Amino acid sequence: MMGKPRIAVHKFASCDGCQLAFLNMGPELLELANHVEIVHFVEAGMVAPDAEVDIAFVEGSVSTEEDIERIHAIRKLSKQVITIGACAGSGGLQALRNLADGEQWLNELYPQPQYIQSLNNTHPVKNYIKVDFEVWGCPVNTEQIKQVVTSLLQGASPLQSKDKLCLECKRQQRVCTLVVAPAAGVSSEKNENQQTACLGPITAAGCGALCPSVGRACYGCYGLADNAESAALARRFEGLGLVSKAIAQKLLLFHSHEEALRQAAENTAETQEASNGQ
Ligand code: SF4
Ligand code: SF4
Ligand code: SF4
Repeated sequence: MMGKPRIAVHKFASCDGCQLAFLNMGPELLELANHVEIVHFVEAGMVAPDAEVDIAFVEGSVSTEEDIERIHAIRKLSKQVITIGACAGSGGLQALRNLADGEQWLNELYPQPQYIQSLNNTHPVKNYIKVDFEVWGCPVNTEQIKQVVTSLLQGASPLQSKDKLCLECKRQQRVCTLVVAPAAGVSSEKNENQQTACLGPITAAGCGALCPSVGRACYGCYGLADNAESAALARRFEGLGLVSKAIAQKLLLFHSHEEALRQAAENTAETQEASNGQ
């Protein structure tokens, strides 16, 4: 890169939480400004959406026709496109509407739905353009952003572990809440006498096993790990007594676009339906 690399931070359908990873750098954001030129970052006051940049960070999912045009334009203007957060990586929580009837929701929630222009489904950025790297989390944190920017400034490709979260959890010598009920007084997704339906076995490591460290189940915000055995985990959740709808909600909370997870959810529903009919 000649001169200071130019950076943009773009927002799509999202809560803005991942952009805060930049603002939360505090004084280090000023230091970063010594090495890069931040040309577009509305939340920080720089507005130049049509500027050509070396790196475009994109937060949020694609949810409108205008979003589709804008994400294609960003791709043309940017040497590298990096998504930040589960919304951009997988559609995020708002992609839950993909599992329902979007039009019905619009009609039920808004008094004048005819003024709402949105796609029936919401999509991860990679459904529309080539993405050079995905930073996962809900939200991503400042350390992840610093690592990515530092790697790129040094001409190296950023890395994210695709090991399973369970490895990170066991390295910290945590008691597995999928196997052993959390101690009384420690929060659990079900109740204090039952194991939690933790997505750690199929989720990528990197967060420090944040949720299991406080007795809560992982809900998958760091994206899928390599070799994720989602069907086997769905069967384990059945063993905990979860009905197929609850299992589907778990598996698809962040990842409704992942075919393997949709398949695992559908298989569980079919198996439970068949055994209920016996
Ligand atoms: S990934 Fe989470 S924190 Fe980031 S923008 Fe989406 S909802 Fe907000
Ligand atoms: S991440 Fe979840 S399933 Fe994996 S070891 Fe930790 S508590 Fe158990
Ligand atoms: S434990 Fe799971 S849900 Fe919690 S922060 Fe880590 S990846 Fe996200």
